[in-house]
Amino acid sequence: MATVYLDNNATTKVDGKVVAAMLPFFTEFFGNASSTHEFGAAVAPAMKAARQQVQTLLGAEFDHEVIFTSGGTESDTTAILSALDAFPDRSEVVTTVVEHPAILNLCQVLEKCGRAKVHFIGVDAGGKLDLDAFRAALSERTALVSVQWANNETGVIFPVEELAQLAKQAGALFHTDAVQAVGKIPLALKGSSIDMLSLSGHKLHGPKGIGALYVKKGVKLHPLFRGGKQERGRRAGTENIPGIIGLGKAAELAAENLEAEIARIKALRDRLEAGISAAIPHCRINGGGEPRLPNTCNVAFDHAEGEAILHHLDKAGIAASSGSACASGSMEPSHVLRAMQVPPLALQGAIRFSLSRDNSEADIDRALTILPDLVEKTRAKSPLWAEIRQKQFA
Ligand SMILES: *Cc1c(COP(=O)(O)O)cnc(C)c1O
Repeated sequence: MATVYLDNNATTKVDGKVVAAMLPFFTEFFGNASSTHEFGAAVAPAMKAARQQVQTLLGAEFDHEVIFTSGGTESDTTAILSALDAFPDRSEVVTTVVEHPAILNLCQVLEKCGRAKVHFIGVDAGGKLDLDAFRAALSERTALVSVQWANNETGVIFPVEELAQLAKQAGALFHTDAVQAVGKIPLALKGSSIDMLSLSGHKLHGPKGIGALYVKKGVKLHPLFRGGKQERGRRAGTENIPGIIGLGKAAELAAENLEAEIARIKALRDRLEAGISAAIPHCRINGGGEPRLPNTCNVAFDHAEGEAILHHLDKAGIAASSGSACASGSMEPSHVLRAMQVPPLALQGAIRFSLSRDNSEADIDRALTILPDLVEKTRAKSPLWAEIRQKQFA
């Protein structure tokens, strides 16, 4: 039986149409876009088309607002460092405690080396951002606000447009790490207050090692890489043409069927959550009360060992994750779930199922068939669980 892949927030399978679109750019059209001869000339229009495909998915006003990068991490880094450079007389950053490590680790380094003071805004138990603390952190010292659009572990969606307007009132730039949102929910950047946005190809059925940074027209960008004049001097280095073509195609495919896929994937996710809640006692859906991505289910089983559940799932041909891929393997409880004050008895038992358009109802039903026994099996090893069981049947 084929493996059921339910770890699409970690990475997605590259769509066959994306691969097909990329292939000629490894062979026939291998030119450097900067070359003036015919090899270069063949590449430039394809790059332009890819940029427009990304623009369309974002609902952006201009194609030159899209700068190709090597992925989400580079886009995030560029946005933060650029904003600090752009405001020499402002040295504070406002972000959240539940950001991806690409933002968190950079912010921690910036603090440590004295480059910036960073306000890390918390969330409540449901995953909702502390808006009062957010407002209080903004001042005339704020250079940049960086808040993720959607969380990679829970799928919780933040009200980024509202936050961007508050940032604007404080005279700060607003960046959003939208790596998990792009291709999963409709976006419309034209007319929005968002100044910069990060996205990554491999999270939307495109290739790894390619992404983009949206920079609103009129917002000055200080390049991370200095060198050639590529990307209008905003990102030096010979372009990853096959990657760019692949990202463009992936963006086009995501936009094509977005509304229908949202409904279909959400129905699958809801089926999974309803099935889990019906068959397995003492579990909680993390972030379940907040607006969420349609594809993400983060469930914590009390008194169970998440790593053990994952291991058994893997043996049964089902791939999921215990939070973020970067955190798993380290056995450190997720920083996101800790920020949400998930109680210790549930922290170790959290599993993330993340779906994509590749999933079917059969995938969900297979997971639901094996999960209850599997959770019971790992709970059997917990002395606390034995006590609870005893009380229940006493
Ligand atoms: C995956 C991810 C990133 C990193 O993107 P890469 O292209 O892998 O560098 C950043 N932010 C979020 C929210 C992500 O999920």
